[in-house]
Amino acid sequence: MRAVTFRGTHQVAVDEIPEPTILEGADAVVRVQRAAICGSDLHLYHGTIPGILPGMTIGHEFVGTVESVGSQVQYLKSGDRVVGTFHIGCGGCPACRRGDFHQCSQGGVLGYGIAFGNLAGSQADFVRIPHADINLRIIPPSLDWDRALFCGDILTTAFGAVKNAGVQPGETVAVIGCGPVGLMVVISALVQGAGRVVAIDRLTERTKRAESLGAVPLSSEEKNPISAINQLTQGEGADVVIEAVGGSKTLEMAFQLVRGGGRISAIGVTAEDTLAYPLMSSLTKDITFRIGVANIHRDIDETLALVTYGRIDPTVIISHHLPLSRAPEGYRLFAERQAQKVLLALD
Ligand SMILES: [Zn+2]
Ligand SMILES: [Zn+2]
Repeated sequence: MRAVTFRGTHQVAVDEIPEPTILEGADAVVRVQRAAICGSDLHLYHGTIPGILPGMTIGHEFVGTVESVGSQVQYLKSGDRVVGTFHIGCGGCPACRRGDFHQCSQGGVLGYGIAFGNLAGSQADFVRIPHADINLRIIPPSLDWDRALFCGDILTTAFGAVKNAGVQPGETVAVIGCGPVGLMVVISALVQGAGRVVAIDRLTERTKRAESLGAVPLSSEEKNPISAINQLTQGEGADVVIEAVGGSKTLEMAFQLVRGGGRISAIGVTAEDTLAYPLMSSLTKDITFRIGVANIHRDIDETLALVTYGRIDPTVIISHHLPLSRAPEGYRLFAERQAQKVLLALD
């Protein structure tokens, strides 16, 4: 079968490799119909994820058709249309039993190397999914591949970050970063009841995309975000700030944008280890700060329903549909910011 493999920094290739087989009774093998390139795949591409070795199959956003199932799989059968969660939970460890599937002690992330469970990725004709009953969801019949694909990671990641901030009806939500996840935050915050979403990015062109989704655009190149938010909120600050970039600079900005008693939810993938935490102001301002990777299993049924019933259309951010054979070009375009969201078609 064909598979997108990591070859080295800024090098991926489409290789011929053996098809995966059922290894454990709870496994399923899925024939992939669509895969997407995620912002976190770019961290692999840039060589910043330890434990990804040359020749490994990458990718973790996908939809497809169940090809075969192991003897212990109860709820899935060959021919089912499914979307997969990007992280794999076992369903049985203490973390999974608590509902913290993203903290599974047995799990990992598809196509993310040895440090993340050593699981082959999904940018391939077939992918093996461990604990298939836990990690695959059946796609409602009326939902197309492209829309369903967003529920396995990017949309649900953003939706969960907004949920973690406990947005109340009518609140002002500021989102820092208008990349693909930031745009999904705009959509998610509005559907969860935000009165307005202020979308902040350095690039005016990116804030315009957020504006087309219903946000108030705020280009940090044109205006100081802190004074602009203060002006918009009569000096109060934003009720909620969602950080969708990653790194200490934008997190520091989040603490300056949030109102007293407000909430910050950080979802941006960071390469930094530490943050100079604003202790005194957080204490006096009573700030709730939450940071963590997404728990897709917790929220995917909600995003699937919202997408199925037409309340959310995540496909508006797709800029490129490419055949799998052109995956290397897709990575290059995405890394050079010439693509907003790349979907790879395998049929
Ligand atoms: Zn991802
Ligand atoms: Zn587990």
